[in-house]
Amino acid sequence: MFNLFKSEKDSSALFPPVTLFNSESRETETFEPLSKKEVRVYSCGPTVYDYAHIGNLRAYTFSDILKRTLLYNGYNVNHTINYTDFGHLVSDADEGEDKMMKGLKRENMEVSLESMRLLSDKFIAAFEKDMESLNVIPPTQYARASEYVTEQIKLIQTLEEKGYTYKTSDGVYFDISKFPTYGRLGNINVEELRGGARVEENSEKKHPADFAVWKNGDLGWDSAWGKGFPGWHIECSAMAFATLGKQIDIHTGGVDNMPTHHNGEIAQCESATGKQFSKYWMHSEHIQIQDQKIAKSEGNGIILSDLLEKGYSGTDYRYWLLQSHYRSQVNFSYEALDAAKQGLIRLKRLVFEEWRDERGKINEEKQLEIVSAINNDLDTPKVIAMMHDLTKDETLTTGERKALILECDALLGLGLSDDPEDGLRAMGHVALTSLPQNILEMIDQREAARVARNWAEADRLRDALLLAGYTVEDSSEGPKVTKQ
Ligand code: AMP
Ligand code: ZN
Repeated sequence: MFNLFKSEKDSSALFPPVTLFNSESRETETFEPLSKKEVRVYSCGPTVYDYAHIGNLRAYTFSDILKRTLLYNGYNVNHTINYTDFGHLVSDADEGEDKMMKGLKRENMEVSLESMRLLSDKFIAAFEKDMESLNVIPPTQYARASEYVTEQIKLIQTLEEKGYTYKTSDGVYFDISKFPTYGRLGNINVEELRGGARVEENSEKKHPADFAVWKNGDLGWDSAWGKGFPGWHIECSAMAFATLGKQIDIHTGGVDNMPTHHNGEIAQCESATGKQFSKYWMHSEHIQIQDQKIAKSEGNGIILSDLLEKGYSGTDYRYWLLQSHYRSQVNFSYEALDAAKQGLIRLKRLVFEEWRDERGKINEEKQLEIVSAINNDLDTPKVIAMMHDLTKDETLTTGERKALILECDALLGLGLSDDPEDGLRAMGHVALTSLPQNILEMIDQREAARVARNWAEADRLRDALLLAGYTVEDSSEGPKVTKQ
């Protein structure tokens, strides 16, 4: 159980309550945990057939902010993120190719459970590296779907015994007519689905929204229904039950998960147990690029390592993400990422360098303002703005400002509480004494131009330094140099 903040947070009773937007009620609600012992959070994880693109990564940065907020407020958090390593078809509605099969073909790997494991190992390792770069606190458990097949089969059996399923020639389907509130998440009109249904590929389905809990296939596991694999929705339900219990506090995912995947999960879980499955449902909006969906097939499938190769850090991207609220759709651009990088550098410079030895008490009034912002449905843009306001707040000592900025960082996870030496190194900070001679000369010339108020020459030299790969910033202690 991760308990980062609790020991210091005896004052949490003074904080305003955590409020969260619940996609089910479509209202911002006061968070009340199911149990005092721990808050149980399940986050739909990646399908590990390829690298996660930068849009996907928002989903886990968002669930990390949710978790940090709960921890800061004194809750224990039991958190599961799953790995879908089979069974997610290209379309969420049981159509098209299995994504893992697609991955195997792409990599010219044989179609077997062993090679599926190898393929997912590779992308799980890449995903965990991304999580580390993004400063995401690891979940209490990562649950891998192929390791919970027995639990999934048992859940399907329970649904079958209770009469919620029917068999077709290609598998076993959940009969939504047996679950009258099907589609309540996002207020899906089930009858409209029937009216506007595409030509159904599987004509044996009784209703177009009925979904597979088991699919027959050449690849997979043996079961009472033959060889095959459990459906995608049943994976998450069975893994949530196995790792967190039959009732959970919060279920998160991206908005695209809501209509089919999450309505499927609700129907299965609540039919099996007769109880509410998740008390709160939270969904993060999509990241786009030039108003287009991010996808390899669109030629814009940027992944985190592309950003790292261009000299950005994981926390630069995280900072950029957190400048928007998780429920707003936002367009990614390198210009915006540059601005984010500069904003973060400004904070890092202060904390790691200028205020390195400053110490101060946490001003409780200001702390309350910060917590009120994050407790208001995770208002990260406001907390970022507050950090910058704090840097200039003359009613506080620099030590007090630093202490509050570090409190913000406990919530936002931007790496400001790293060891200053590591922090400076990660920023690419270069001590003047270790610069190449020609660069040092250009910096000296630029200083001379600045003293002579020859701004045009100073700017020209700054651009020349940039071309050579160095950024110069002016501070009260002289120029600060960063290698790009
Ligand atoms: P997948 O690996 O396809 O199952 O997706 C992993 C997560 O990324 C899911 O929670 C999706 O909702 C989310 N997601 C997919 N595309 C985007 C996007 N462009 N922006 C933000 N989140 C996304
Ligand atoms: Zn899921």
